[in-house]
Amino acid sequence: MKIRDINKLEQKAKAIRINILESIGINKKGHLGGSMSSADLVTALYFYKMQHSPAHPHHPDRDRFIFSKGHSVLAQYAALAEAGYFPKTELKQTKTLGSILQGHPERDTPGIEANTGSLGQGLSIGLGMALGGKLDQRNYQVYVILGDGELAEGQIWEAVLAARSYQLDNLVAIVDHNKLQASGPLKEGLKFGGLNSKFTAFGWHTMEIDGHNMEEIIGALDLVGQVKGTPAVIIANTVKGKGVLFAENKAEYHNVSLNQQQFEQAKSDIANL
Ligand SMILES: [Mg+2]
Repeated sequence: MKIRDINKLEQKAKAIRINILESIGINKKGHLGGSMSSADLVTALYFYKMQHSPAHPHHPDRDRFIFSKGHSVLAQYAALAEAGYFPKTELKQTKTLGSILQGHPERDTPGIEANTGSLGQGLSIGLGMALGGKLDQRNYQVYVILGDGELAEGQIWEAVLAARSYQLDNLVAIVDHNKLQASGPLKEGLKFGGLNSKFTAFGWHTMEIDGHNMEEIIGALDLVGQVKGTPAVIIANTVKGKGVLFAENKAEYHNVSLNQQQFEQAKSDIANL
C-alpha cells in the first residue's frame, strides 16, 4: 500500500481531491476549502507514512490519525476509500441519511479513530492515545491535523503543554495553516504571531513546510519520526480550496454547494493540477 514515488503520491493526491468532490456532489453542501487544503497532507500520511491496514483497522500497533478539524473529514473519507476501507461508491452517499459517511468523523466509520469536529479536542485525544502507547510499550505514532483557526481553542494549548511534559515523541501535530477560517481571514481573529515560536516555547520540535509540496511533506514526516523525547509539530503552509481555482484562498468556499457547472470546472481544475 505504501507509495515511495513522489509523482505517484501526487497522482494519489489528485485522486483524493476528486474523491472529495464526489462526496460534496452537486447541489448538496460540503466543506470544500479545508478538505482541499489538507488533501496533500492526508495523502502523505495514508499512502507514504502511516502503518495501517484496512484488513485490520483495529490492529493494536497501527498508527493513529485524528482529524481534529473534523469538518474537513471529506479528505479522510477520500483517503480511506482509496485505501480500501470501504467502496468508493459510498462517497456519493456522504451526508445522506443512513450513510456511514457523515459531515463530521464518527468511530462507526471504518478507519475513523475519534469523533471530532467540536473544535479543539483532537490534540487531547491524540495525547491520550500517545500516552497509552507509551504505557503499553507500543511503537505506534499518533498524527493529529489541526486547523489554524482551531488554534484559538484553549484546550489545544493545554494539550501542547501536557504533551511536552509527558515527553510524547510519538505524537505529531500538523497545522493546516491556510490563513483562513470559516468567518474570514485568520488575521482578523485572534492574533497568533509566530506559530513556530509559540510551539517552540512550549518545548515542541517545530518545522515549517509548504503543505502542497509532496517532497517537503514526506521529508518532514520522516524527520519528525526521528525526534526523541519531545512531541513535534509541522506547520504546513497551505491554500484553502487548493486545486479548485475559483475557490482558492476564499473563505466563502469553506462550506459550499456546487452547481453542475462549478462541479465540472472543479474536476477539470484538479485534473490540470
Ligand atoms: Mg484555516
